[in-house]
Amino acid sequence: MRVTRQFIFSAAHHLTDYKGACERPHGHTYKLAITVDGPIKSDGLVLDFVDLKRVVNESVIDLLDHTDLNDRFKNPSAELITVWIWEQLKDIGTQTGTAVTLHKVKLWEGENTYVSYKGK
Ligand SMILES: [Zn+2]
Repeated sequence: MRVTRQFIFSAAHHLTDYKGACERPHGHTYKLAITVDGPIKSDGLVLDFVDLKRVVNESVIDLLDHTDLNDRFKNPSAELITVWIWEQLKDIGTQTGTAVTLHKVKLWEGENTYVSYKGK
């Protein structure tokens, strides 16, 4: 069973290895979808959405929201941010005290553009 929760955060960035508008500082309202995979437990849940929200907020959102992403990333492309988010959450089973595994990280940089990552 797959379970997904979506999050929103705002941040500034500029791309450092790019020629064009995105090399200048600007901001995005990012949307993030975290999908986990696991069995349905005896309580009828794969995991409590409250626990998923807590872990993603602590490990990702609180660190990125209303920051300049260039302070944390050398080149904060959506792709490289998504890989970092995967690394932050790859032990999400332990972090939530459940048997779930991280299935997919999907990050929207705008309404029509996103990247998704499954650890490769
Ligand atoms: Zn941008």
